[in-house]
Amino acid sequence: MSSKSHPEIKVGILGATGTVGQRFIQLLANHPYFKIHALGASSRSAGQQYSKITKWKLNTTIPEFVQKMVVQECKPDAEGFADCGVVFSGLDADVAGDIEEAFRSANLIVYSNAKSYRRDPLCPLIVPLVNPSHLDIIPHQRSSLSLSKGYIVTNANCSTTGLVVPLAALEKAFGPLETVMVTTLQAISGAGYPGVSSLDILDNVVPHIGGEEEKIEWETNKILGGLKSSNKEFDLHATEQTKPINVSATCTRVPVIDGHTGVVSVKFTQNPPPSIEQIDKAFREFTCEAQDLGVPSAPAQAIVVHDAPDRPQPRLDRDLHNGACVSVGRIRDCPVFDVKFVCLIDNVRLGAATSSIMNAEIAVEKGYIQ
Ligand code: NAP
Repeated sequence: MSSKSHPEIKVGILGATGTVGQRFIQLLANHPYFKIHALGASSRSAGQQYSKITKWKLNTTIPEFVQKMVVQECKPDAEGFADCGVVFSGLDADVAGDIEEAFRSANLIVYSNAKSYRRDPLCPLIVPLVNPSHLDIIPHQRSSLSLSKGYIVTNANCSTTGLVVPLAALEKAFGPLETVMVTTLQAISGAGYPGVSSLDILDNVVPHIGGEEEKIEWETNKILGGLKSSNKEFDLHATEQTKPINVSATCTRVPVIDGHTGVVSVKFTQNPPPSIEQIDKAFREFTCEAQDLGVPSAPAQAIVVHDAPDRPQPRLDRDLHNGACVSVGRIRDCPVFDVKFVCLIDNVRLGAATSSIMNAEIAVEKGYIQ
């Protein structure tokens, strides 16, 4: 835990009634830096008490002080948002773009889960266990848009997040990767509520999730790449020393409630490649800036390596470190590439709300949120 003391920062939550929004509320209810101050959702929910309008799906109760809060429309001038030091967004992707832009234009700071600004050349796309250094583009984003305070930071697609943490550990230990192939087995909560119909998902595997494969294939290089020395541009993993990683993804939906699994094969540029023992050690020894800074949501272990041949499993392993780590197992030689393994992430915690919150905690430590 960071030794610095922090003034309490008021926060807003957009999409507060949804799957990600409910996790935000649960994780922020007793947070040492942040205090829930304003809640927003669609006009269907606005004007009503949170507990009356929300189909709460978590196995903890709605925090008492949140139950009676009145849900607002997602407008920067709606009650409470103007006082917020950060606004977390779990908004539906169809509406997030315009609403988040309205909040940024009103000089508010937005930490978003939606896809809308992930490819924006001014917006950092941050997995907190991997690339918080990308926050340093914020001054350029603000000055480009003539804003004194407002900006948007995004976190990644939930499956991308589960993939890039182990990939970052491999690049840190062994240098650039050449090719990555991943097949995902994604939980139904990834589609929000009510999500996939039970008649479509029970007793079934759906071998298509619209837009998901393209997200993994593109986002990986922005996250694992760096910021150019000017702090005004992302290198997208294309530098004098590195080429963009070839990423190929196949995404499937499976009848799991929470927890996305990834089946991964990797080829290194290093030849000969590291041994399986060296790779196992690199995963176990991987540490990151969030841990060095001691922010409250950082897991004690970023990657948990499982030795049992039948792990990780979503039901058994998604709760490790409060859903803030990535589990890895089945690390073995790949006869086509160099190594293959299985990874698992809690898609709504580290895959969404926990990432946004940890990114904001890091931004507090770095002075990008006051
Ligand atoms: P969800 O359960 O469908 O919730 C969507 C939220 O958006 C609800 O609060 C809803 O409010 C609100 N909303 C919908 N239309 C709106 C409008 N016109 N104006 C204002 N608010 C509106 O979706 P989710 O799964 O939480 O996903 C939220 C975002 O996070 C999406 O962009 C998604 O891609 C991303 N994400 C999700 C996951 C995951 O595992 N679920 C992981 C990573 C990223 P009402 O209740 O009033 O309709």
